[in-house]
Amino acid sequence: MIFTPEKCALPDQRMKPFIDPEELWNYINTTVSDRESVRAVIAKSLDKKRLTLHETAILINATDPELIEEIKEGARELKKRVYGNRIVLFAPLYVGNKCTNNCKYCGFRASNKQAVRKTLSDQELIGEVEALEDNGQKRLILVYGEHPEYSPEYIAHTVRTVYGVKKGPGEIRRVNINAAPLEIDGFRIVKEAGIGTYQIFQETYHPEAYKTYHLGGKKRDFEYRLTALDRAQEAGIDDVGIGALFGLYDWRYEVLGLVRHTNHLEACYHVGPHTISFPRIQNASKLDLGTDYTVTDEEFARLVAILRLAVPYTGMILTARENARLRHEVIQFGVSQIDGGTKLELGSYSASVNEEQDLNREQFQINDNRSLNEIVDELVGNDFLPSFCTACYRRGRTGEHFMEFSVPGFIKRFCSPNAMLTLAEYLEDYAPADTKKKGWEVIDKNLDELQQHEDSVNINELRIRLLRVKSGERDLYF
Ligand code: SAM
Ligand code: SF4
Repeated sequence: MIFTPEKCALPDQRMKPFIDPEELWNYINTTVSDRESVRAVIAKSLDKKRLTLHETAILINATDPELIEEIKEGARELKKRVYGNRIVLFAPLYVGNKCTNNCKYCGFRASNKQAVRKTLSDQELIGEVEALEDNGQKRLILVYGEHPEYSPEYIAHTVRTVYGVKKGPGEIRRVNINAAPLEIDGFRIVKEAGIGTYQIFQETYHPEAYKTYHLGGKKRDFEYRLTALDRAQEAGIDDVGIGALFGLYDWRYEVLGLVRHTNHLEACYHVGPHTISFPRIQNASKLDLGTDYTVTDEEFARLVAILRLAVPYTGMILTARENARLRHEVIQFGVSQIDGGTKLELGSYSASVNEEQDLNREQFQINDNRSLNEIVDELVGNDFLPSFCTACYRRGRTGEHFMEFSVPGFIKRFCSPNAMLTLAEYLEDYAPADTKKKGWEVIDKNLDELQQHEDSVNINELRIRLLRVKSGERDLYF
């Protein structure tokens, strides 16, 4: 991998804080963005090269609507050329919402006495996983508040429990984590349980702004959080996810913060983030931020396109925080993973709770509460290829996003065939008749397209495996 370290992004900066707000603001305040420079930067990204902070700032500072359109078009083109039409599906599963922190934006904050606290018992956890399997989910992200009860051992225990649940043809094949930062030993314990990605969002990369939102608990320590994924790497977890909570501070600065974090991980560990998330603040129980850094839909679409171009190899996650219309639009700018059938209330996948969200029981409001099947149906209706693939992780092909991106033919040999095989399982086991019909049409269309590429998987073998799935075999992958 060829990376371009920038100021401070040096290998000896392991475990050291790497954010200099003045440096990031300087890029925003001094970078000139004109037609030529914007086009040159888009062309560099389409040439599959990572952008520097300066180049990212050129995109950020483009304000001419025509240029903004070109940036979005560039992101669309990059997605088309590099990743094709696959979208990986997952669901979040909240395990416990006890929390000793006081994050102003979060319904679970310790000072929110109206929050209804709950930690799933083993039996309840199993019930939730069974319900998710019954919907067809194969990939989960487990979410926890920060609390002494949620120790590394406890997290590892819940991960193992989830992997152990098999209902009918259902099983969870990849468990990711979103939890508080751990010490190196703690990360080791969690790694041993077989997690996929460890995801931690910095929330805001601006240390002063960070202080104003994090009013109590361990999460007040900006630097401890900033270096969390360094400790994960030191513990051998090389599959990490970063993110910023948009709406806490200036979005332009946060985009540079994410790129800076990427630089740091690349320089120190020779592996960038597996995923970048860009959650936007949503309403939460008694939410009162006291600031206004609202990111409009238009700015949101722009920042997603800019992130896609800035770090072309990374996975990009778009969640049900955003409504269906915006998700539909933004997916085209290079999003690779979305959640479907999302429920945030603890225990709500298995229990019949009100359709209406109760914000005292949930972390925040979601705006896309469609079922997994509604999402799959929309995706196949728009010629996307929904995927539940977990093959790379299970075959030990770590750094898969980078391989998809950089190894010629990788997508055609592995990702597309595995997407088709996992979609076929879903269609056979869980989809209603009309989704099933549309889904198989999309598989056939993708098979025809694959057939035209010499470097693709052995197409006859893929056809045979699809037939084997049709006749009841499961978990076939390349
Ligand atoms: N307790 C862990 C932590 O803070 O790292 C887990 C994180 S939380 C359960 C997952 C993420 O949700 C947070 O990192 C934050 O970015 C996001 N979040 C919190 N409140 C939110 C809100 N009101 N709207 C949208 N996202 C929110
Ligand atoms: Fe707790 Fe995480 Fe919510 Fe902060 S964001 S209050 S740490 S659950």
